[in-house]
Amino acid sequence: MNRGELAHRLAARIAGGEDGILGIMLVRLQRLQEFRLVHGYAASDAVGEAAFARIRDLLRPVDEVVHVAENEFIALLPNLRDSQHAMLAAARVVRAFEEAVAVGRHSVLAPVAVGISLHPDHGGDPDTLLRRAELALRDAKRSTDRCALFTPGTERMAVPYESLHDALRNNLLEAHFEPILDLRDNVVGGYESLARWTASELGPVRPDVFIRLAEETGLIAELTRWSLNTSLRHAAQVRACGVPAHVSINISPRVFGQRDIVAQVTSALSVWEMPAADVTLEVTESALMEDPVASMRLLERLREAGLGIAIDDFGAGYSSLAYLKQFPATELKIDRGFVTDMRDDQRSARVVRSIIDLGHHLDVSVVAEGVEDVETLQILRALGCDRAQGYHIGRAEPAAAMVDRLRAIA
Ligand code: C2E
Ligand code: CA
Ligand code: CA
Repeated sequence: MNRGELAHRLAARIAGGEDGILGIMLVRLQRLQEFRLVHGYAASDAVGEAAFARIRDLLRPVDEVVHVAENEFIALLPNLRDSQHAMLAAARVVRAFEEAVAVGRHSVLAPVAVGISLHPDHGGDPDTLLRRAELALRDAKRSTDRCALFTPGTERMAVPYESLHDALRNNLLEAHFEPILDLRDNVVGGYESLARWTASELGPVRPDVFIRLAEETGLIAELTRWSLNTSLRHAAQVRACGVPAHVSINISPRVFGQRDIVAQVTSALSVWEMPAADVTLEVTESALMEDPVASMRLLERLREAGLGIAIDDFGAGYSSLAYLKQFPATELKIDRGFVTDMRDDQRSARVVRSIIDLGHHLDVSVVAEGVEDVETLQILRALGCDRAQGYHIGRAEPAAAMVDRLRAIA
């Protein structure tokens, strides 16, 4: 379950008007990232699961625990007598993690910090309560008790850079998967991975906003590493459920200059055991045009490693056809603007038709994005477009939830 779903549950409990005090307990494992760097994702996921079980076993049957992020858990504690009662539960969790968590051959000492907020004292809505539990957790990290209750008056609006930095460090971004329909056989053959971020202080932040912030501040290197690993991990999990999914991952041109970028991609592929042929990297046309020669060289190396390359937002930039012919692309993605307008605007429809023809002449497949109605889909099919995505086909959904769903029916 992710934070969004948790917020819904919390809202339902608040609306249900349960008696007494409701505690929101945020538990964060402190050394999981270090552990992951040494032992890998599979081992750190196992530690996360063991930690989840440990917390659940400690609490009362009426308490609800949710694993919201790699190293983070939230427990809802209904019907507390008073704030002392909540702090007692928190102290119990802290003590339990003074003992190492053992998984397989590994044993890891993963101390926790615990922050608590209380309904109704500290807020009347999920956002405020979760934010205040987060603030309490910051205090907890500094305290020798390792747990803390929210103290009114400690709030301060974090600047976005700090929030994003923190979110990346604590793995608070989420990958959502948007289905891509294959128009030849009418099945969903793959997904585009899209980053989502709900900042604890600000609520949901749009991807174009935080991607730009990351690009401007250098956090893009870390965001790219996160995106590659998270997208590949979830794609591998989907495939393990018997769904032969392809995954498309957006890559910012700002990381093209990084010397180790190709190695980073190939090592992520091998960590998650994803075949390169089932992964496409999407780069926008305008990004490619900023430095066509350098882009081409990098894309060639990625192509040699077996990955697909999509030119995203095609038609919105201004690629010269001379370059286009030389780019080692495997796919053109028609810019959403043309697709959205094509039903009512002849000019857009003609542009879409020419892009499809151009793509096929260059021997690359063509994907239309932003398909919002059945008429548009029918026109695209008639024009010979290869694949399509958009609200009409399906909205992006949290990849973790998709995996849970598939596992339940597998
Ligand atoms: P994009 O790669 O062009 O992604 C498609 C955008 O169109 C997504 O917006 C998606 O939610 C939206 N969309 C999908 N279907 C429809 C539809 O039928 N109608 C309309 N109106 N919109 C639709 P989103 O998720 O807000 O992403 C915005 C941009 O942020 C993306 O544009 C991509 O360039 C960038 N981005 C997202 N995730 C990542 C990431 O992990 N890494 C990098 N570098 N960039 C990312
Ligand atoms: Ca894209
Ligand atoms: Ca696009």
